[in-house]
Amino acid sequence: MESPTSAATNLGEEAAAGFRERFGHEPDGVWSAPGRVNLIGEHTDYNEGFVLPIAIDQRTWVAVGRRHDRLVRVASTSSSTSGDTVVEHGLDDIAHGSVDGWSAYPLGTAWGLLQAAGDTELGSVGGFDAYFTSDVPLGAGLSSSAAIECALATALVDLWRLPLDSDRVLRATVQAENIIVGAPTGILDQSASLFSRAGHALFIDCRDSSRESIPFPLTEAGLRLVVIDTRVKHAHADGGYGDRRAACEEAARVLGVAALRDVSPEALEEGRERLDEVIYRRARHIVTEDARVQQTVALLRSQGPRSIGELLLASHASMRDDFEISVPELDTAVETSMAAGAIGARMTGGGFGGSAIALVDAERVEELTEAIGVAFAKAGFEEPVTFVVTPAGGARRESR
Ligand code: ADP
Ligand code: MG
Repeated sequence: MESPTSAATNLGEEAAAGFRERFGHEPDGVWSAPGRVNLIGEHTDYNEGFVLPIAIDQRTWVAVGRRHDRLVRVASTSSSTSGDTVVEHGLDDIAHGSVDGWSAYPLGTAWGLLQAAGDTELGSVGGFDAYFTSDVPLGAGLSSSAAIECALATALVDLWRLPLDSDRVLRATVQAENIIVGAPTGILDQSASLFSRAGHALFIDCRDSSRESIPFPLTEAGLRLVVIDTRVKHAHADGGYGDRRAACEEAARVLGVAALRDVSPEALEEGRERLDEVIYRRARHIVTEDARVQQTVALLRSQGPRSIGELLLASHASMRDDFEISVPELDTAVETSMAAGAIGARMTGGGFGGSAIALVDAERVEELTEAIGVAFAKAGFEEPVTFVVTPAGGARRESR
């Protein structure tokens, strides 16, 4: 377990202090969980393929204290709409529609854990108060939603003494988001937030949710990973995400497999005539992306982080040309990064906006950040936000 940074310790103390002030008693402890970026493997999750995220050093912290009744009270410094107003809800009547706004994430997590615990001994389960602080930017594609769910889930598993294995905790946090919040997400975000190790990426097989930590010694290699938040909001409303999912399902159906995970690049070429041209290109992104994730893992193992630049670039080109989910801001971020000396760069996340990542020599970070600012201004884009992330450890207890 790595020692928390001083900024992070302050957020932990802030969570405990905010708890005391809001709720008037001592918390039982403080827990935290990180946000994440996906290094490579985009849209492969729902095709039962491979992804390779890292947890980042931006975290969400929660101070939690048990109550003697079955009431839940939650408050957060980061709930943009309502300040840190307390939201109250009964523990036993949490349902989709009965909760709204940001509180659906923590309340959904409590609900997910109760579902997972099922008929096990629930004697130690009761209401609780929880106060959140965070430095994960909300809604920037860095998975603040998984961070809030995984921080609270880790706290409640401890306080409620739930005998749940890690996969059931994972499922509870995913169900919080799928069922109570109502967002159709896969296992990537919560897996990264729960199970990442500092200095490692997490290689996940989305078919059976098995996972493995892969050494990603960025600092030792003299490298930095820069996130470029384009501030372009993903417009999933225009149907882009659903449309891509449908195309993948169609390709799998025509090729006679359960999911595109089961198609090799060779098999896809053999089946090409049977596929509509657009469907073929969508499938080609998934099939080649799965291969790139596996190649990235192999290269990280044999040669380290400096060797994966080409694969990041190939992934971006595939999303831009075959899957068609990039936007001019993301392409500019990638092209400018490469011109400023990056080893590799790609858009990350679902696409249609959000962030790009660039892998760059430590001494070139400043030059790259400046170049991106200049390029965005020249193109008339909104000013991007850039920051360096390091591969951090997953959810954990921080203090009693
Ligand atoms: P992302 O996970 O990429 O940040 P989402 O749209 O999935 O974006 O989740 C963002 C939402 O999660 C926020 O709008 C807010 O409702 C909720 N949320 C996440 N973290 C916090 C927090 N620390 N405090 C309050 N709400 C949070
Ligand atoms: Mg999210």
